[in-house]
Amino acid sequence: MTFNALVVTKDEDSGKTSAAVEQISLDDLPGGDVTVAVEYSGLNYKDGLCIGPGGGLVRSYPHVPGIDFAGTVEASDDDRYKPGDKVILTGWRVGEAHWGGYAQKARVKADWLVPLPDALDTRRAMAVGTAGLTAMLAIMALEDHGLTPGADPVLVTGAAGGVGSIAVAVLAQLGYKVAAVTGRPETGDYLRDLGASQIVPREDLTEITKKALEAEQWAGCVDAVAGPMLGRVLKQMKYGSSVAAIGLAGGAPIEGALITPFILRGVNLLGIDSVMQPYARRVEAWRRIALHLPMDKLEAMVQPATLGDLPELGRDILKGRVKGRVVVDVN
Ligand code: NDP
Repeated sequence: MTFNALVVTKDEDSGKTSAAVEQISLDDLPGGDVTVAVEYSGLNYKDGLCIGPGGGLVRSYPHVPGIDFAGTVEASDDDRYKPGDKVILTGWRVGEAHWGGYAQKARVKADWLVPLPDALDTRRAMAVGTAGLTAMLAIMALEDHGLTPGADPVLVTGAAGGVGSIAVAVLAQLGYKVAAVTGRPETGDYLRDLGASQIVPREDLTEITKKALEAEQWAGCVDAVAGPMLGRVLKQMKYGSSVAAIGLAGGAPIEGALITPFILRGVNLLGIDSVMQPYARRVEAWRRIALHLPMDKLEAMVQPATLGDLPELGRDILKGRVKGRVVVDVN
């Protein structure tokens, strides 16, 4: 029996990769103790890299990308899962070093899965996806460091992207004032509908200044961008507040920041990794998502897609052109 998968191949002479929908079989799948009939997958920045140039993430070719998926267990050698169980996979280098969710079937380790929360279906789980899980982990880290709703806004950078959109919606639902940074003014209404009370143009925060500190503005920050923007944001954080650093859409270094915000204002920089999160923390984050993410707002973020759309969408997400969350129906 064969089934559809998005297969990326590499031309050894030119080094160029290309992606196309092909037929593969169960025997082609990598080792693992649970085989899942995939229903939906997502599209994340890393997927753009793995569908396209690889970005140093893909270990060998041919490769099936897709860093997250949700579906139904078809076969399991592990006591924790049985056929018919609904599951979610994120992280553990699936879709990078291990074949991923851009196929009608996937085989993975049971340790990498979590059960689908009752309040979600597999499509909604992938509307949330790795991006939403990461947004929730960032909010949980800010809460662990003392963030509570108050008069001052929480800043979300890269707000119209996947992580940013879900961070905005969850923070607003939890009662926070949300300031959303975007480089796309046309997404203002979308961000306001998700719950942002203030839109901050990207260019307000990208100039590198010589000032060691600026006026204190933000009670917390979920930062998907890094680069010069994170350098500026650190100088504007309220005394004792925290920034959850989740991504580097604007560049890998933190540019223009001195140590001053840390030692004069006690600002914390919290690193957020979704890939190797322990099981209990992943389950807790999914429980919180099911509880706090309004489903009408989630639906407003969704752009549906099929496996055949992915080569183009992969290029789009690398250029920062995707709004909200792409949900891939692999069937
Ligand atoms: P998206 O592409 O959906 O969103 C990124 C957003 O960042 C864009 O929509 C854009 O928002 C903004 N942006 C893009 N380029 C620039 C730039 N040059 N300068 C300033 N802002 C920019 O990606 P995701 O939300 O899926 O991921 C965001 C980041 O988080 C990526 O770097 C990704 O690798 C990382 N990530 C990390 C995870 C972890 O475990 N730590 C997990 C998931 C993602 P706008 O148009 O509103 O300005």
